[in-house]
Amino acid sequence: METITSNINKRGAIKWNTTIAMIIFHGCAVAALFMLSWKIVPITLVLWWISGSLGIGMGFHRLLTHRGYQTPKAVEYFLTFCGLLALEGGAINWVVTHRIHHASTDKPGDPHTPRDGRWWAHMGWILRGTAQQHEESVMKRYAPDLMRDKVHVFMNNYYYVPLILSGAVLFAIGGWSFLFVGVFLRVTIGLHFTWLVNSATHLWGTRRFQTTDDSTNSWWVALLSFGEGWHNNHHAHPRAAKHGLTWYEVDFNWYGIRALKFLGLAKEIRLISAEQIATARNIQLADLKKAA
Ligand SMILES: [Zn+2]
Ligand SMILES: [Zn+2]
Repeated sequence: METITSNINKRGAIKWNTTIAMIIFHGCAVAALFMLSWKIVPITLVLWWISGSLGIGMGFHRLLTHRGYQTPKAVEYFLTFCGLLALEGGAINWVVTHRIHHASTDKPGDPHTPRDGRWWAHMGWILRGTAQQHEESVMKRYAPDLMRDKVHVFMNNYYYVPLILSGAVLFAIGGWSFLFVGVFLRVTIGLHFTWLVNSATHLWGTRRFQTTDDSTNSWWVALLSFGEGWHNNHHAHPRAAKHGLTWYEVDFNWYGIRALKFLGLAKEIRLISAEQIATARNIQLADLKKAA
């Protein structure tokens, strides 16, 4: 384990393919700000929800990485397809990176901890190092379940195809402005919202659970990431499919999973128990008394 993870967050040479792609996406995203219209904005918001919530939050993260609930295979593949529209790499690579993050959170080997620098945790790890480009041995070690699944391996290899297809459809129905806003602006902003979970919610916010890492709960990151910002709750109980634990901890990814359950498409949903929440609260009260 040590030899494999110790190379993960090494600052290697700049990865020019990724860096040039990021420069193009950011440049086109700025241009897209001058192409906004009442037609493309609602379409883009729906695409943001499809890619960010159905795809990344409900799919890549809570289903594929942590198996916090189960769905029929067809639903699993559909959520994976949605996640590819976010351009966060193939699902298997994403899952491997994230499982390594949980295995060594804020410790040596964590692919994106702010302890290695705030900029590094937000975006630097994408532009340098070995992020999301794992060797097959690492992938088989951290995601043996997905590596055995031929459909997942196929989708992982051709992760960029769904986004290109969506861009072609948008261009066909609305021209350049639809392509720029629906793809470049949406993807660029969506990437930063996901990266905030790695940077901001390991830096700023509140902590319900006394975890051994720096994870925090942040309402504004949660709003931008469909509920992923309740990150301290998540690190304390990684397998739980529900991250927002009170009515005001807004968690759209959980509402989506609940909708799947209502439709009979999600089962064996893992939750943080009331006792576990109460225990965390008692520890906080004890700490307050100690401090007083
Ligand atoms: Zn984390
Ligand atoms: Zn996680």
